[in-house]
Amino acid sequence: MKAVQYREIGAAPAVVTLPEPEPGPGQVLLEVAAAGVCHSDIALMSWPADQFPYRLPLTLGHEGAGRVAGFGPGVTGLAEGDLVAVYGPQGCGRCAKCAEGKENYCLDAARLGIFPPGLGAPGAMAEYLLVDDARFLLPLDGLDPVRSVPLTDAGLTPYHAIKRSLPKLVPGSTAVVIGAGGLGHVAIQLLRALTPSRVIALDVAEEKLALARSVGAHDTVLSDERAADRVRELTGGLGAEAVFDFVGAQPTVATAGAVAAVEGDVSVVGLGGGALPVGINTTAFDVAVAAPYWGSRGELREVLDLARTGALDVHIETYGIDEAPLAYERLHARKVNGRAVILP
Ligand code: NAD
Ligand code: ZN
Repeated sequence: MKAVQYREIGAAPAVVTLPEPEPGPGQVLLEVAAAGVCHSDIALMSWPADQFPYRLPLTLGHEGAGRVAGFGPGVTGLAEGDLVAVYGPQGCGRCAKCAEGKENYCLDAARLGIFPPGLGAPGAMAEYLLVDDARFLLPLDGLDPVRSVPLTDAGLTPYHAIKRSLPKLVPGSTAVVIGAGGLGHVAIQLLRALTPSRVIALDVAEEKLALARSVGAHDTVLSDERAADRVRELTGGLGAEAVFDFVGAQPTVATAGAVAAVEGDVSVVGLGGGALPVGINTTAFDVAVAAPYWGSRGELREVLDLARTGALDVHIETYGIDEAPLAYERLHARKVNGRAVILP
């Protein structure tokens, strides 16, 4: 089968031919219909050898959806042909966090060598994907696998971050989204669907701001050193009850901190490496900063349920598997508007 692999530190991803995997006990074989291209893969491919946490070569793709093509002994409740989405941040299933359904915060995954597909384990950017347990597969139930595959990360990650701040996003409140890319353009739609808040989106590119407006942002602001002042002006000096930073670089976390209202939440989702100091003279009173990771299995179910109501319209551009390296190049050059999706 064809697969897209990161093979060597610093090298571009390559399309290779691998043996088709066979499901062992408890495992499910998926014929992949679609795999999303995430900026986290670009971050991963920029890490130096001494900081690289996974084994190479690594088949990429941590957003996956497809059709059940077979399963090993002991798998129940699934049938060949079922269309499913893959829950990525897989945990041990037994620790305290997994018991709550928060497998993204599994306390034992690292120790047990459990990695998400595409982030340590072989990923979804291949014709077939082996999934270790049927509980990591959620029924698509009528959703199109290609249009919905980004919901498994670009939907789930913002959903998890937004859910934490829902009590603050009351009528009259403001939410700020920094970075209207793959995650950000879904975040705007989630905020519109789940809250009465005014949504202000920031980005550095005019076409991303146009996308932000088209998916429901009330206002857009160019993300530069004047952005915080502009957001303060737009909110009558009060700032935003919740700020979601999908860039996470030093300039954007500084903007996030500067626009957070008294008792506001800042969620730093982007892997840009910025740090936001919190202090009496640094941020408004009682600002809370969090760095959330992906989301729970239950939350993915909720995102898919929300998508079934028609509330979410993920903007995608599709590529054949041979074009996956091009998709990464375009994402790196900020040329992708919405989410790039590979069709293996
Ligand atoms: P993307 O490339 O699709 O989107 C990023 C957007 O940010 C683009 O629209 C880009 O124009 C914009 N941008 C770049 N610099 C900016 C700046 N200074 N100010 C405002 N906007 C700016 O990326 P993505 O796939 O949506 O991922 C977003 C970030 O979230 C990445 O850092 C990714 O690694 C991270 N991520 C984190 C998690 C998590 O669990 N914490 C999960 C998935 C992705
Ligand atoms: Zn991702």
